[in-house]
Amino acid sequence: MTAKIIDGKEFAARVRGQVAEHVTRLKNDHGITPGLAVVLVGEDPASQVYVRSKGKMTVEVGMKSVEHKMDADTSETDLLKVIDDLNNDPDIHGILCQLPLPKHLDEDLIINSISPAKDVDGFHISNVGLLGTGQKSMVPCTPLGCLMMLRDHHGSISGMDAVVIGRSNIVGKPMAQLLLNDSATVTIAHSRTKDLADVVRRADIVVAAVGRPEMVPGDWIKEGATVIDVGINRLDAPEKGEGKTKLVGDVHYESCAARAGAITPVPGGVGPMTIACLLANTVTACCRANGLDEPEGLTA
Ligand code: NDP
Repeated sequence: MTAKIIDGKEFAARVRGQVAEHVTRLKNDHGITPGLAVVLVGEDPASQVYVRSKGKMTVEVGMKSVEHKMDADTSETDLLKVIDDLNNDPDIHGILCQLPLPKHLDEDLIINSISPAKDVDGFHISNVGLLGTGQKSMVPCTPLGCLMMLRDHHGSISGMDAVVIGRSNIVGKPMAQLLLNDSATVTIAHSRTKDLADVVRRADIVVAAVGRPEMVPGDWIKEGATVIDVGINRLDAPEKGEGKTKLVGDVHYESCAARAGAITPVPGGVGPMTIACLLANTVTACCRANGLDEPEGLTA
């Protein structure tokens, strides 16, 4: 079987296009410009790249982008004050605090200080509870992107057997919850799972969110299954030249693609969907804040 490659780059561009259309409508019909604020504490190079690219894409879809860059030794009090100001700023509809935070800051406390209505990362405990009880919430961006790709490919995933490998709060657990809300039969696997190969072999849908390069081999994949690879792992690539690196996912792409019905590549699969869904969440938050209809197809 030759797997269909689910092109996340193309899909994400489509989502950003829908977001841009909605932003234009909000501006023209209601005089509202959705605003996204990103707070970055410290100088983590990967976080700086993410924040730059989030800011650029926010502006590209016509939204207002605000960045708060704070020193690595920023106190909790100062960070909470910035978030409080953003919570009370009517021009800001989405707030994201780039993780990881420096060790001296209490991540849970900071996340839960963001107004749930503006929590476009969907990490606030209220949004976790709303998602868990099948109510309207802000949904974490990466799992939302995976869900959109699965719905697009399958139409309905109702009744399908899904295995999520990984149980983190930002990917694995919300992913499993979204699949369950769409009536899939869901198994969550993790580092203590016995006979992971056997668990994965039963799945019609495999979502790998482990953080271990190419951990899932092709012979774990049921013939025709859909494989969503969330993993982003950077490996040395001496074959590309001295000091060069490459990105690989959590599944072994070639062998899994040989058995799967559909698969997301790394790079160019789930990754681009994450920022697209952040923008989608910001438009959704803006519509909800103003009592307007939400854009269709951009939420769970
Ligand atoms: P975490 O490290 O928080 O979680 C990893 C999970 O994998 C844990 O639940 C862990 O189990 C499980 N795990 C580890 N080893 C094994 C194993 N041998 N067998 C089965 N399960 C195992 O990672 P994240 O969820 O934050 O991220 C996962 C991956 O997704 C990473 O590669 C990350 O870079 C990528 N990512 C990609 C994003 C994107 O935009 N595409 C966004 C976010 C993350 P246990 O709980 O038992 O320790």
